[in-house]
Amino acid sequence: MAVFVLDKHKQPLMPCSEKRARLLLERDRAVVVRVHPFTIRLKDRVGGDTQPVRLKLDPGSRTTGVALMREGTDGTTHVLWFGQIAHRGQVIRDRLAQRRAFRRRRRGQLRHRAPRFENRTRSKGWLAPSLQHRVDTTMAWVDRLRRRAPVTAISQELVRFDMQQMENTGISGIEYQRGTLFGTEVREYLLHRHQHQCAYCAGLSGDPVLELEHVLPRSRGGSNRIGNLVVACRDCNQVKNNRSAGEWAQALGGSRKKLDRTRVASAERIHAGQRPSLKDAAAVNSTRWALFRALTATTLPVEAGTGGRTKWNRQRLGIPKDHALDAACVGEVNNVEGWERPVLSIKAAGRGSYQRTWLTRHGFPRGYLARSKQVQGFQTGDHVRAVVPSGKKIGTYTGRIAVRASGSFNIQTQAGVIQGISHRHCRLIQRADGYGYSVQPKIAATKKEEARTQAA
Ligand SMILES: [Zn+2]
Repeated sequence: MAVFVLDKHKQPLMPCSEKRARLLLERDRAVVVRVHPFTIRLKDRVGGDTQPVRLKLDPGSRTTGVALMREGTDGTTHVLWFGQIAHRGQVIRDRLAQRRAFRRRRRGQLRHRAPRFENRTRSKGWLAPSLQHRVDTTMAWVDRLRRRAPVTAISQELVRFDMQQMENTGISGIEYQRGTLFGTEVREYLLHRHQHQCAYCAGLSGDPVLELEHVLPRSRGGSNRIGNLVVACRDCNQVKNNRSAGEWAQALGGSRKKLDRTRVASAERIHAGQRPSLKDAAAVNSTRWALFRALTATTLPVEAGTGGRTKWNRQRLGIPKDHALDAACVGEVNNVEGWERPVLSIKAAGRGSYQRTWLTRHGFPRGYLARSKQVQGFQTGDHVRAVVPSGKKIGTYTGRIAVRASGSFNIQTQAGVIQGISHRHCRLIQRADGYGYSVQPKIAATKKEEARTQAA
């Protein structure tokens, strides 16, 4: 993994390799500032040469991919650092639902009281707490990374498809082929619109091969515009031949076979100009737009990419699918160098609970939240290294701890949870900051091979 480097006055310099960082630390020219993500500070350097660094984001509902890329003058990009942030939207949602239930129960113990004032208005752009958390966590990491690397520009995957371009442009003969950007994007869009199913038989024919199909055939003057294209299985495509959807429906009208009846119904709908709803396909994603506005507010130039382009880049460059790798492929990309590297996995873990009383499944008190978060100088979420010299748990464990009032802690290591480690064996590595960290090994060669065969 790359190591973040700060100068004497804590200004970010270009990240360096692990090897170089080790050398600097050995020669006592640098000190460790932070372990996750690993950051060192040079004792003697003030300022230094920096190159343009682009921060790239692929926001997802559960996981957001992050990539830091060095941009060369000749259009090449080199990966400096990979990260993936795991959000905790579902946890927040569940906790709020539980809190709401508790309050409702308490109020139910009193007689009904009419609301005294209307305080339930929501401002424009309001997001549910579980969604706002995604924006906030991502922005927190954008700020962190800007303090650790000289970021000069940002790219974000904003929408799934470029609807504007999709509706207004017809694709030409060359672009219609697979492999071009617009071809890929149209294809992905249509597959999504028809939910990866044949538009005529919905999979009844049993042919798994899906193709783009012209509602009015090209041989009869049908255009390449999106309005004239649907996804159909090869079987339907061949049987329909050079008839329009309407003609095909008429020709099949008398048949009583289930497959044919399905085809007639679909073809008539398509002939009448009805297509599946675009509401979902248009990717109206309020969270992504909220993030985009927040990124724009940083005053750095922000490039907005589409999901179609990300996929096109990834396939063209033979890169496997992964959150961080997707982030590296967002926006305009010529090539991606050095993408075979480990990924820092960042899991939003929160900073503990407000709930004072823990309950059993049936609502009886089971225990109480401790008055103090600290036990023997440690608190839940701290990263520690425990060296157990003897006994059943002999060994060295590194990870995030959960404290117990007894002083016997649990450690979440990369391999799993180790229970019952005494505080006497623990040494603090990093204070709790609301995140759990682990390093994902670099993408295995097998996965790379898979991608190559897929691309071919
Ligand atoms: Zn079909």
